[in-house]
Amino acid sequence: MTDDLDARARELDRTHVFHSWLAQANLDLPVVAGGSGSVVWDHAGHRMLDFSSQLVNVNIGHQHPAVVAAIQEQAGRLATIGPATAHLARGEAAARILGKAPEGFAKVFFTNGGADAIENAIRMARLHTARDTVLSTYRSYHGNTGAAIVATGDWRRMPNQYARGHVHFFGPYLYRSEFWATTPEEEGARALRHLERMIQSEGPETIAAVLLESVPGTAGILIPPPGYLAGVRALCDRYGIVLILDEVMAGFGRTGRWFAFEGHDVVPDLITFAKGVNSGYVPVGGVIISAAIAATFDERVFPGGLTYSGHPLAAASIVAAIDAMESEGIVDHAAAIGESDIGPGLRALAERHDVIGEVRGEGVFWALEFVTDRQTREPVPAAFIGRLKGELVARGLLPFVAENRVHVVPPCVVTADEVGQAMEIYEDALTAVAAG
Ligand code: PLP
Repeated sequence: MTDDLDARARELDRTHVFHSWLAQANLDLPVVAGGSGSVVWDHAGHRMLDFSSQLVNVNIGHQHPAVVAAIQEQAGRLATIGPATAHLARGEAAARILGKAPEGFAKVFFTNGGADAIENAIRMARLHTARDTVLSTYRSYHGNTGAAIVATGDWRRMPNQYARGHVHFFGPYLYRSEFWATTPEEEGARALRHLERMIQSEGPETIAAVLLESVPGTAGILIPPPGYLAGVRALCDRYGIVLILDEVMAGFGRTGRWFAFEGHDVVPDLITFAKGVNSGYVPVGGVIISAAIAATFDERVFPGGLTYSGHPLAAASIVAAIDAMESEGIVDHAAAIGESDIGPGLRALAERHDVIGEVRGEGVFWALEFVTDRQTREPVPAAFIGRLKGELVARGLLPFVAENRVHVVPPCVVTADEVGQAMEIYEDALTAVAAG
C-alpha cells in the first residue's frame, strides 16, 4: 500500500507537474511524504538526511511542532485576511523581525517570497533616491520575477517600468579572483576599487542602489573578505546610493548569526528576507525598511502591493519560528556545529580527496568546490557532479548541487551524529565516483 503511494506520487508528478529550472522529460525526483528535523522519508518509510534544507530554507528543520501548531491555531481562528487591515499576528511578526535587525530599522513590508522582496526593495530604493540604476554582482541569485508589473495595463504599470538600468560588477571571490589577488585583504581592496570605478563610470547621480547578497549563496557561498561590506557601505554613503543586502538565503541562522552581515561592520538601508524567517512552512518574504526610507512613503503612496502581504498563516509561523529559534538556541547551535563538526569534517574529506579544490563556509552554510586539478583549479565537468549526486542520493542523503559544487547546507538543528553520518556518506560517494 505505502509502495503504491510512492508509485502514485511519482506517476502523478511525471504526468501533471511542471517543475522549476529543469528540463521536464527525464526527471526522477525523490518522493517525500514526511519529515522531522534534518530527516525526510517517503511513504514506505525510507529515510534520507536532508543536507539541502530543500532550497536552503528549512532552517528550523522539518515539522517543528511549535511552528506547525501556530499555523494550525491561526488557521482555526482566521485563515486569511487582506493586507489593508491591522492584524495582530502580522504586527507581532513585524516586531519580531525588527527585533533582530540593527537599530534604525522602522518597518517591514511582507511579500510572498524572496524574489518579490527584491522587486519591492528595488522599487523603494528607486523612489527614495529618484535614481534608476541598480548595481549587483555577476555571481548572485535574487529571484525569478520581473515582467508582471510591466505587463500590467493599469496605472500601476507607470511608476514601475524598471526593466532597465541593471548593471553588473564582480564581487570578491578569492579562489577564482578577477583581480589577480592572493590574499583576502587584496581581494577585498581590489574588489572595492573595481566597484568604485564602476560607480564613477556609470555616473553616481544615476545609481539608486547597490544590491548584494551578504554572503552569495547559490553562486558558491562566498563569504566576503574582512572590510568588503563595510567598504561598500562607505562607497554608498559617498555617492548617496541605497545599500540593499539580500538575506533571503543567508539570513535567520544559516551563517550562525541572525543576519549574515552581522560581524561585517555594516548596516544596510534595506534588508530582504524570506526562507529561514519561517523555514518556508508558509510562503513568505519581505523587506526590512530603514526609518529614512520608510519616511519617504509617509505622505507619498507606495506603488506596490500583494493580495497576500502579511498573510495570517505566514505571520503566525514567523512569530513561532523566531520564538523557537530564540528559546532553543538554534542560531547559536548552527554556529557551533559549523565550527566543531561540519568545517573539520569537510576539511578532513578534502585531505583524502584531491578533487576537492576548496572548502569554505560557516554555520550550516558550506561549499565543496570540485576541480580536476588543484593547480589549475579547472572545474570538474557536469557529469562528475551528476554522478556524485546519484551516489549521495543512493546512500540516503539529499544534496544541494550547483555547477561544480556540492553545498553542505543542513537545517540549523542538525545534530553531531547526523553530521557524522553525512560525512561517511560524502566519503563513500566520493570513493565510489573515483573508482569509476
Ligand atoms: N535572493 C536570494 C539570495 C535567494 O537565494 C533566493 C532564492 O534562492 C531569492 C532571492 C529568491 O527567493 P524566492 O525563490 O523565494 O523567490
